Amino acid sequence: MFKTRTSKCIYKVVNTIVLFSLLILRTSQASNVSAEEVAQGDILYGVDYASEADAAPVFTDVPYSYWAWEWIETLYWNGVTAGCSTNPPMYCPEDAVTRAQMAVFLERGVHGSDYQPPVVGSSSGFNDVATSYWAAAWIKQLAADGITTGCGGGNYCPEDPVTRAQMAVFLLRAEYGAAYNPPAVGGNTGFNDVSNGYWAAAWIKQLAAEGITTGCGNGNYCPEDPVTRAQMAVFLVRAFYLPTIFHPACGDQNPGDLSEPGNPRNWTQYNALQPQITYDATNFRVFQTEMHNRIVTVAVQKELSLEDEFGIDRWQPEELARFVQKTWGIYWREFGGFPFESYTVVFGKGLSFERGGFGLGFGSSLLNSGWIAHEIYHAWNGNAFRQKNERFWYLEGVTTYYGNRQSTTPFEDSMRTFIGYYLDYYDSGKDRPIGDMSGNDPDYDHQFVAQKGAVIAYLIDLELHKTGHHLGEVSRQLYEKYGILSEGTPSNEEILAVINNVSGSDFTDFFNKYIYGMEKLPVTREQEVIWVCHE
Ligand SMILES: [Zn+2]
Repeated sequence: MFKTRTSKCIYKVVNTIVLFSLLILRTSQASNVSAEEVAQGDILYGVDYASEADAAPVFTDVPYSYWAWEWIETLYWNGVTAGCSTNPPMYCPEDAVTRAQMAVFLERGVHGSDYQPPVVGSSSGFNDVATSYWAAAWIKQLAADGITTGCGGGNYCPEDPVTRAQMAVFLLRAEYGAAYNPPAVGGNTGFNDVSNGYWAAAWIKQLAAEGITTGCGNGNYCPEDPVTRAQMAVFLVRAFYLPTIFHPACGDQNPGDLSEPGNPRNWTQYNALQPQITYDATNFRVFQTEMHNRIVTVAVQKELSLEDEFGIDRWQPEELARFVQKTWGIYWREFGGFPFESYTVVFGKGLSFERGGFGLGFGSSLLNSGWIAHEIYHAWNGNAFRQKNERFWYLEGVTTYYGNRQSTTPFEDSMRTFIGYYLDYYDSGKDRPIGDMSGNDPDYDHQFVAQKGAVIAYLIDLELHKTGHHLGEVSRQLYEKYGILSEGTPSNEEILAVINNVSGSDFTDFFNKYIYGMEKLPVTREQEVIWVCHE
């Protein structure tokens, strides 16, 4: 039976300013404000940081070798499931999803993980769902939201399994509302085993068109098969854009030992200043998580409308906080540690912080998940280490590339957009060599550097991938050498040396053509974009 979230959750709301005052807050040098923050006027303060997920799998029956473990853990970290058992923690991935369980999953997807439906009252609205039934309130709300009308005859059939065909309808209604109807099915459904005349053909075709399903293999959808809890995790993560922990294309990954903080030798310089952050439990919702004795705090101003101010559809403050916390975790994993002891992130409207934080300022300007992820990455690339003479292609290009990887916009889509931006520059004769562009240049064009730089970062990542390596290893070596060991700031030549060291091959020609020179990058608007695994 489905269990609601338990005390196992590490996620908690801090309701008192007292806890806030226990945090050690630090800021960095005033020079570490990246150009786009100044340009956009967004404000948020990074103060310190840290946190990461436990290295062990969350559920004992979902090891890292299980095909859907990333999806299931993503569901867990987003607070949508606590599994089918808590002691030991299990998820029961092969069990069929019942219609009662589905009601809970979908309602949490629609309304947020902390959602509780109204009390059921005197009737559930269905003959076969007693008011005392464990999921009665969820089922009643699912009907109130227009996602279900039951299974016929005034019943809901709560213990029946959900078929994959039914799930297509439920998911799309949950996503778009009760009135939604998919486009006509047209010439074919795209699946061998779903004929045009099948009752759910148009729904199944639309589910595939949205990338929520790729079928059950061999060109089939298996519409009559029951949905397993593992499959349900995939459907929910995709349908509700839950921030993922790992890209599913990368297969089995072990996060490894995350216990070492990896503080740079000079981190104490950040002790010097107290940030000008003024948030409190009255005007902010404060979320705090602690992992490996590290604390990350996210404060979201209560009057802030995330949809209006940040363009983040559907996100509640909880979702925003989880996204921030998980993004820290992913970068922590990539770099093998964090340069600071704790970190506080504040989202506020019309706040006037004194500038000087190390790169996280989310205030009045429009931001999205990619930008948030971008600014978090600057805690390493831009603050712990940055490029000599503020040449920005690695600083902003690689950071932008990581923002795209972590964004809730599919990576393939955002990279194709960036390739388009670059080609627009190229086709209009505005391309320039990127290797010596500095934020101090009078004609500095941040969008150009970020966009072309992100495409170059992607190309380097692809080249590194051919040697069995990836760009994360380069950034990590740069962080260790120039951040932790404080060996100055890297020049282009020193970055090239690190790339050559990581790959065991010579990128001199690549640098001559694309970093120092302005040979046309080997990209097209139509090209396939491939996700490069970093684990
Ligand atoms: Zn930046």
